[in-house]
Amino acid sequence: MQCREIDALVMKYLDGNISEIEMELIKKHNENCASCAEEFAVLSDAIYTLEELPDIEVPEGFTARVMSSIKEQKRFALTPQIVLLWIIGLAGLAVFMINVVMFAVIPAIKSSGILIAAYNIMVYSGTIISNAIKDFFVFGSLALSKLLIFRTILLSEYLVFVVASIGVFIAANMLIVRTLKLQQKL
Ligand SMILES: [Zn+2]
Repeated sequence: MQCREIDALVMKYLDGNISEIEMELIKKHNENCASCAEEFAVLSDAIYTLEELPDIEVPEGFTARVMSSIKEQKRFALTPQIVLLWIIGLAGLAVFMINVVMFAVIPAIKSSGILIAAYNIMVYSGTIISNAIKDFFVFGSLALSKLLIFRTILLSEYLVFVVASIGVFIAANMLIVRTLKLQQKL
């Protein structure tokens, strides 16, 4: 038999898928072929070593730690809840902007006389406030989410922060609208 054919049989042997006859063919060949015999000895030895390796003891709590660190990372993925909160936040921002336009910008354009100065101030401050809020929401929470990942603060704390921010935002919005309505009545 050719060395090449023996190689194929050795592959079968390594797969644990060899017949007794084929095994005999390898042995017979190896008696007369030093290089195949040596190769077979090395491979058999390697297989034996692999099979004899003890099952590695996993330290206590290892699996739990791995799973929780995976969950920790998943926590900061974009969940439907976070998306919803962002939509609510952005809707609040849109409402705020519409209010600024309806109660400050349009009246400022339409009205004349003594109120125009007050409206101009309102428009000006409204723009500054809305820009500040927008920056806070966009850049602030981007920076915050990075910080949260590093400090592994719980998602619940992050959600509380987002909800609280939206609450403060809506309250400020209502206060501004109320102030602007009072201004109109003057
Ligand atoms: Zn050979």
